[in-house]
Amino acid sequence: MVAFTKRRSMVFPRSVHIGNNVIDDVADICRSLQFGKNGLIVTGGDTYRSAGNRVEDLMQERYDIATKLTGNATFDNLREVEASAKEHNASFLLAVGGGSKIDLAKMAAKNLNIPFISIPTSVSHDGIASDRASLKSENGSSSMNAVPPTGIIADTRVICDAPYRYLAAGCADVIANLTALGDWEYANRTKKEEISSSAFILAKHSAEDIISNSNEIKPGLEESVWLVLKPIIASGVSMCIAGSSRPTSGSEHMVSHALDIIKPDTALHGEQCGVASIMMMKLQGGDWKRIREALKNIGAPTTAKELGFTSGEMVHALVMANTIRPERFTKLGEKGLTEKKAERLAKDTGVI
Ligand SMILES: [Zn+2]
Repeated sequence: MVAFTKRRSMVFPRSVHIGNNVIDDVADICRSLQFGKNGLIVTGGDTYRSAGNRVEDLMQERYDIATKLTGNATFDNLREVEASAKEHNASFLLAVGGGSKIDLAKMAAKNLNIPFISIPTSVSHDGIASDRASLKSENGSSSMNAVPPTGIIADTRVICDAPYRYLAAGCADVIANLTALGDWEYANRTKKEEISSSAFILAKHSAEDIISNSNEIKPGLEESVWLVLKPIIASGVSMCIAGSSRPTSGSEHMVSHALDIIKPDTALHGEQCGVASIMMMKLQGGDWKRIREALKNIGAPTTAKELGFTSGEMVHALVMANTIRPERFTKLGEKGLTEKKAERLAKDTGVI
C-alpha cells in the first residue's frame, strides 16, 4: 500500500460584513478580531476621500492609526507600504480602496505576517476575498500567492457611489468562472489534473447567481451591489479552497492577459474576461449566448470595439493566449488557435 502523504492548508476570511453603512462598525470589528493597538490604513487619494477619511475618524477614537496614501499595485509601492507599516509599528492593515490597494495590503500583510481587513470602495474583480494578489512590474502583471483578508467590510452605500462600470466588470469577472471551470473539467478529463469539487461548485454557483440576477443589476441601486457582493466573495473563497486561481481563471483570463500586453490599460480586467468568456464558451461547445445575454443585461461590454480594441488586436490576443500561462492546460490546447480559427470564433460570437 502506498503511504498517504497529501496535505493542504486552507485559510479563509473570518469576519465578513456586507450592507448599508457597515463601515461604521470598523472599530468594533477590529476589536472582535483582537487586533493590537497600532494599525495602518492603506488607501489612495480618491478612495481616502470616499471612505478612507471616515475609517480614519472611526478608528482614531480607539486605535493608534496612521494612513498611507499609495498608488498602483507595484513592487515599489509595496515596499513603501511595508516601510510605513514598520515605522508605525502596525500590527494590522486596513485596505480602503479598489483592487490595487487591496492587492498591496494582501502582499504586505503576508510579508509582515500581520492581518488585514479588506474595505472595498469598488468591486471590479473577484479579488476582494481571495488569497491571490496581482502586482505590476515592467514585464506586465504577475499573480502571486498572498493571504486572504482576515475581515471584509463591504459597504453597499460606498460601493454604489463608485462608477457603475466597476461593478459591471466585477460581475463579468465572476460570470467568466464558467469557462474557467470548463477548462478545469477538460484538464481533469484529458490530463487527469486534480479537481476540487467543493471549489468547483462554489465558483459555478457564484457565476450562476450573477447570471440569474442579471436583470436586477443596474446602476445607482444599492440593492444591485448587495446582490453582487456575496457571489463575488464566494468566488474569491473558491480560490482559497482550491489553493489556486484555477476555479476562476482559465483560457478567458489568458486572453485578457494577452490584451493587457497588446494594449495595456485599455479596458478593465473583468470587462476583458467577460468578452473573452463568450468566445471561450463557444470553443468549449457550451451556451455562449447565455453569457453574452447576461453581460448585456448587466451593461458590461460584449464586443472588441466596446472594450477599445480593433478586430485585429482581438484576433492577435486569441492567437497569443495559450502562451500566457503554458502550465495551465485549457481548451486552447498546447498549440493554441490558428489565426483563421481565432477570427472565425470572434466573428461567430459577434465579438468582432
Ligand atoms: Zn479575474
